[in-house]
Amino acid sequence: MFGGGVLKGLTVTLKEMIRPKVTTRYPDETYTFPNRFRGIQKLYPEKCIVCNQCAMVCPTQCITIRGKPHPDPAKKGKVLETFEIHFDTCILCDLCTEVCPTEAIVMTNQFELAEYTRDALQKDMTWLTENPAEAREVNLPWRKT
Ligand code: SF4
Ligand code: SF4
Repeated sequence: MFGGGVLKGLTVTLKEMIRPKVTTRYPDETYTFPNRFRGIQKLYPEKCIVCNQCAMVCPTQCITIRGKPHPDPAKKGKVLETFEIHFDTCILCDLCTEVCPTEAIVMTNQFELAEYTRDALQKDMTWLTENPAEAREVNLPWRKT
């Protein structure tokens, strides 16, 4: 009876040893995320029309935006002056990018955002614009044209 149990256990172990691995050796190896992965946002300030929709829809109110009149007096509307996301409260829900009418804010495949303080998780317009991560293809219909 005892020998049977050991054999059964060993069989399971041997089977698992030859099964293809589903884990990766992070951070040496990175995982390829699905195209709809909701990663840290990237901002294209030149596309922003300062409509404030992203800030209004945000369930955790972690977006702050300020606009200023267009520097060219011949043009109507505003341009972005400041744009901040507080990643200590952002839940990466994707709502801000869903409502953006111009795809000025998009989700990316970036997920690494470890910091030592909560204040460091407050990211400004420059940081969001320079986020080197690839924007999701699904958010870039304007790139295909
Ligand atoms: S992903 Fe969600 S929580 Fe984060 S800024 Fe956008 S709307 Fe707010
Ligand atoms: S929804 Fe888009 S266009 Fe409107 S303020 Fe936000 S980022 Fe800018």
